[in-house]
Amino acid sequence: MKKKLQSIILACIMAFTMAIAPVNSLLTDNSNVTVVEAAKKKTIKTFTINSLYNTYSKVTGKGLKNATVKAYAKGKLIGSSTVRSNGTYSISIPKQPSGRTVTVKISKSGYTTRSKSVTVKKDKTSSTYVYCNGGNSKSKIYHKTAHAHNMEGAIKMTKSQAKAKGYRACKTCW
Ligand SMILES: [Zn+2]
Repeated sequence: MKKKLQSIILACIMAFTMAIAPVNSLLTDNSNVTVVEAAKKKTIKTFTINSLYNTYSKVTGKGLKNATVKAYAKGKLIGSSTVRSNGTYSISIPKQPSGRTVTVKISKSGYTTRSKSVTVKKDKTSSTYVYCNGGNSKSKIYHKTAHAHNMEGAIKMTKSQAKAKGYRACKTCW
């Protein structure tokens, strides 16, 4: 009788140890928990960035609607927005020099955050000629074309030359 009781107690201890063991390993092994969480997150399938030029003050593209989009340059946040219901986004940013990398991160709860980068391209039209007020006009403004706003006697020069001479861009032309 005594022996039977001993074996029952032993069986109880063994069963208890076995029940505890898997719980213990789950609590101590953090990597298991992380894997389970990552598997639950969905993938954002639609995510694009349109070409970005050094003359642009916004970065645009497509993404998952209502997702948050954030733009970064040199590791700093330069703008953020939300994807519209039509699946497009537009983030207002300060103009970036050509050659710089701009990264956009898209995030939404329940989804894995994605990021994409573009290199800022040089807008060739910005280095072409502009047309400064000449003739009778005394305002120091440069325009896109030689005869903008019925202008006569425009002085043709590059944008940087115009700026160096104190001319500013016409708000109607640009
Ligand atoms: Zn103009």
